[in-house]
Amino acid sequence: MRLAIYPGTFDPITNGHLDIIERGAQLFDRLTVAVTNNLSKNPVFTVQERMDMIRGVTSHLPNVEVDSFSGLLVDYAGSRGAGALLRGLRAISDFEYEFQMALVNRKLAHGIATVFLMAHEKYTYLNSTIVKEVAKLGGDVDSFIHPLVKERLRQKFEKP
Ligand code: ADP
Repeated sequence: MRLAIYPGTFDPITNGHLDIIERGAQLFDRLTVAVTNNLSKNPVFTVQERMDMIRGVTSHLPNVEVDSFSGLLVDYAGSRGAGALLRGLRAISDFEYEFQMALVNRKLAHGIATVFLMAHEKYTYLNSTIVKEVAKLGGDVDSFIHPLVKERLRQKFEKP
């Protein structure tokens, strides 16, 4: 059983993330999408809300499950018996950070490899921050996120 962990903030999950999940699910026997509890990014959605949205948009993928973690990623991955960490690479801007994280994680846990998938060209410009910004200002986010996520964003930014 080859298990991979796809860690991230997913605040909220975008079509770019989903594309990585769909392709990753074909490479591994099982894929766990793991939502980080890290509050330093000031997430708009709670961990539970982010997990619910991921479950909602990945329900067509039988070997994908959703979890959350706090603390060191390699400790979590080790406790789950995962052999790989999955990450997506967008433009050059992702490279330096991802390179550093992959090397540090390898130093911390030799047995866990980081596997990168290139972002789909349709989604290289896409991140959760820009989606939230556009949604907040009432712009069209249909091509960026699943309708279920759009609805959750609408509720979140609804004027009282
Ligand atoms: P983090 O806070 O760990 O960067 P994100 O939720 O922003 O968490 O991203 C999780 C992973 O998904 C990262 O490897 C990131 O590079 C990748 N990713 C984010 N957006 C996209 C996208 N549009 N296409 C491909 N990969 C993406």
